[in-house]
Amino acid sequence: MNRFTDFLKYFYQKSQRLKLPFLVYPKGNGRKDFVSPAKMREFNKIRFHGPKRLACYNPFVNLYFNSRGQAVVCCRNQDTVLGTYPENSIKDIWFGTIADKLREHLLNNDFSMGCAYCKHQFETSRFYGLPSMHADYYARTKLGYPKIIELELSNTCNLQCVMCSGIVSSSIRKNREKLPPLENHYDEKFVEQLREFLPHAKEIKFYGGEPFLIDTYYQIWDELLKIKSKSKLHVVTNGTILNDKLRNYLKKLNFTITVSFDAMSKELFESIRVGAKYENVKAHIEEYNILLGGKGLSLSLTPMKSNCHEVPIVIDYCNTLNATINLSFVENPAKMALWTMSSKELKELELYYRSYVFKPYKGVNAEYNIKAYYQFVNQILTYQKANQKVEDEFFHQLKTEEEAFKITNAILCKAIQENIIFESDRTKIINSINKIGGELSNSQQYVYFGNLASLLEDRGVNIVKDLMADGLDVNKLNDSLQRMSEMPDIYKHTYL
Ligand code: SF4
Repeated sequence: MNRFTDFLKYFYQKSQRLKLPFLVYPKGNGRKDFVSPAKMREFNKIRFHGPKRLACYNPFVNLYFNSRGQAVVCCRNQDTVLGTYPENSIKDIWFGTIADKLREHLLNNDFSMGCAYCKHQFETSRFYGLPSMHADYYARTKLGYPKIIELELSNTCNLQCVMCSGIVSSSIRKNREKLPPLENHYDEKFVEQLREFLPHAKEIKFYGGEPFLIDTYYQIWDELLKIKSKSKLHVVTNGTILNDKLRNYLKKLNFTITVSFDAMSKELFESIRVGAKYENVKAHIEEYNILLGGKGLSLSLTPMKSNCHEVPIVIDYCNTLNATINLSFVENPAKMALWTMSSKELKELELYYRSYVFKPYKGVNAEYNIKAYYQFVNQILTYQKANQKVEDEFFHQLKTEEEAFKITNAILCKAIQENIIFESDRTKIINSINKIGGELSNSQQYVYFGNLASLLEDRGVNIVKDLMADGLDVNKLNDSLQRMSEMPDIYKHTYL
């Protein structure tokens, strides 16, 4: 497909919007996880490739192999395994009964065969970034060979990024998780079987691990060279590898490259992408860009608490390269993710983003990048509002200082009556509570007395029994009280 047909197809798809009021959607016929026609109409309004009758075409056009040897139809549905290589051949997998069953479900807009992620996104009207969007470009329901092949064949990787895990990095698995290597499922026969599929694929995507370290991918690129393939090949790399062999493939095949790049500050970059050298990655990014002829490069930034201020700075860099930005949110580890920041921190971040002045930019991708940036800023605002609501609910149910003292006194009196403590112990406990409370800031005091009251209410006199088990240790008591001023993890259910 050349740029001219791409262009025509784009306009054809846009014109499909006229069909919107006349589309007839599947009726559901009592299916439990079925997408209602009302939801479909809402989704169709924002669909980049025009409105369509079905919510997802992935089972008709997309084939994905993961590092466990399993074939699925998209990264978000790992529950419906179409088959496993080498036990099943690629042909049996794609044209097999499980794939057919999933197709039958999605022909009815039924998400019950492992599509829980999309079901949730639809329920909350969060359509952007759905893995089905990309398949829309090739939308069809007649079965043929897959138009998109996604390969995540191995976790071989030379880095140990802080937000990553051993499932996608062999180095983390070995050094951080101290686990044995994952079994390698893919051999030369896999490439042989794939040969039949390659001429039909319009796009092939290579993930890792680090794709430029995975031998099977080099064998597939050799096959593609033999058939003079014009398919779009996409690689997501950490940018640490570039050698003559690779330069040759990048020149001869139709590659696009996404490089993970999280900060313009060397120190911060190297603290996130553990094992990478900032100068090398930056030099490789610039050379990839030249090898791709100045088009087809994107940078993928994962904004977390540590690097969230770098987002517009990296976009400025993207604009100078005429590269596109790809902002991918971290959901886990939650402690690093933006959605677990307090509403106050998120508000400050949003203001920082809105006040950032971009360098004057040229190039077709700069406009896209700025749009993507403001979509991201709006997402920050969504987090901020959601967390504000959670905080309001949390503070609303917290007991006041006065109530905390009433509960404390009642429990300590009971403890004296039951001979758990003497009057002198009560004085020491009250003194400790006052001392720690007096050292805190106003906002910390609020949380401190609230937490203290709920703990005492929950545990009653038993907490005094525990405290006195080995005799009253005032230092230990003070340490425990100090922790009462820490905000509990109130955001943990906001997004997950
Ligand atoms: S999880 Fe979503 S994108 Fe994947 S097959 Fe199901 S509906 Fe399609």
